[in-house]
Amino acid sequence: MAEYIVEPKSRQDIRDLTLMLRKFLGLENEKYFPITELLDVLAEIFDNFSYEIVENNELPFGTHADTNTLTGHIRIRESVYEGACNGNGRDRMTIAHEIGHYFTICFCGFKLERNFTNKKIKAYRDPEWQAKCFAGELLVPAHLMKGCSVGEIIEECGVSYDAAKIQYKKINSERSDAS
Ligand SMILES: [Zn+2]
Repeated sequence: MAEYIVEPKSRQDIRDLTLMLRKFLGLENEKYFPITELLDVLAEIFDNFSYEIVENNELPFGTHADTNTLTGHIRIRESVYEGACNGNGRDRMTIAHEIGHYFTICFCGFKLERNFTNKKIKAYRDPEWQAKCFAGELLVPAHLMKGCSVGEIIEECGVSYDAAKIQYKKINSERSDAS
């Protein structure tokens, strides 16, 4: 059960947001997004953003990174950060996911309210769904990768097979709603 619910945002809304960010950075034509560099750029631009590389045992077991949405502080396991620097797709996605939390909640202020009633919430109102969606859309830009194969997406965008397959389906299907 998700503890918080957020304003409904469709995949298209989030795709627009990632494209806006790419344009702002002058990266709209880059297939391979420099995700670790983005951490430094964000820290420079935004007063309410910071990140920290922590020892592998500083985060709870199984947690690769986390984001404090009140302070805009991201903590990343050392091994994940190094993996991302070396082009590991899963690690790159982990960092993009945390930045997704920052953008959808801290920066865009997608409305966040506590899910007091514990009701089951629709996927697109789940902050985890939004962060996941943001990460996929940021690393695999729809406008550049439409029509490319899963293999090309893995190679050129630096993402895992699983992530490439998901984005491939989203990009090449007609529907771009909250699914
Ligand atoms: Zn998350």
